Amino acid sequence: MSEPAEQQGGGAGIAGEAFVDRGPCPLCGGERFETVHDFAKVPVRRCVSCGFVHSARVMTAEGARRYYTGEFGSARHRDGQILNAAINERVLARLVDLGRVRTFLDVGAGYGFLLARMRDRRGISGVGVELSAGEAAHGVERLGVDIRRGTLDEAGLAHGSFDLVTAFEVIEHVQDPVPFVRSLARHCRPGGHVVIGTDNFESPTVRRLGAEFRKWIPHSHVSHFGPATLRRCVEAAGGLAVTGGGSFTPWENVLQRVLMRRAPRPAAEAFDLDAFVRTEMARGYRMFGVRRRISAAWFGLRWRRTMNGAMMYLSARREG
Ligand SMILES: [Zn+2]
Repeated sequence: MSEPAEQQGGGAGIAGEAFVDRGPCPLCGGERFETVHDFAKVPVRRCVSCGFVHSARVMTAEGARRYYTGEFGSARHRDGQILNAAINERVLARLVDLGRVRTFLDVGAGYGFLLARMRDRRGISGVGVELSAGEAAHGVERLGVDIRRGTLDEAGLAHGSFDLVTAFEVIEHVQDPVPFVRSLARHCRPGGHVVIGTDNFESPTVRRLGAEFRKWIPHSHVSHFGPATLRRCVEAAGGLAVTGGGSFTPWENVLQRVLMRRAPRPAAEAFDLDAFVRTEMARGYRMFGVRRRISAAWFGLRWRRTMNGAMMYLSARREG
């Protein structure tokens, strides 16, 4: 589920959705905030107490469900997931001893490309969970992987059973990330691993890009972690001990920073929700072939065991 905001044939749907105030900080319950980016309709704020950056307003629970369950209609989104699956497999090989993994759960499995890769290249069979009906159907019908539709808790999978539980580019979409991570942990067997991948909205590159960073789509990406807040979230969930992590900065972010000659535009100019929704389906995923070749090589060169990159990954071991 790397970019659900870009998948929605029902782009018009979001325009009709009501946004509600987020309430207290989802991480610490704090109630004092400062504005990070004053995007129209959905400003992004930082909790003064714990530093967690998040969208101040969110879709209602029913609205978010409609948004993510709706039919997909975007080749752009699918192409992006093919590239991400190749990266995510490499991340797992670096963070986890895959030779010891027999059972694998991918939460936010999207079209199922990572499940298929792990099966075909590593001999690891897995189960996916995905809200989008169209994406789950693609995985089941075209790739022959097992994807359950719905949320993780609805899927009814056995608790404490998986050697490895992953959630790549999912947690930034989640309004209540602590219970979400707790549910990831519950499905992992004691001694097994949970790996969470998300954008690092506190990375130096992202800070320099300001409101121009393309992952600021605050109606869809609602929880904007940095290394410290992601760790805090995992610790708050309980039952997990952080074992490591890593990061890299995608070349697209580096290129954007190089090409951006002036200071970033202010938030109101950099992102307009209505315009985004109107045009998202019209944008193709440019240069897919070139990007496919570059991204794998770039990842190998730029992967670091630190958490400074614009894409970060945290691994944790299930205790007990
Ligand atoms: Zn807080």
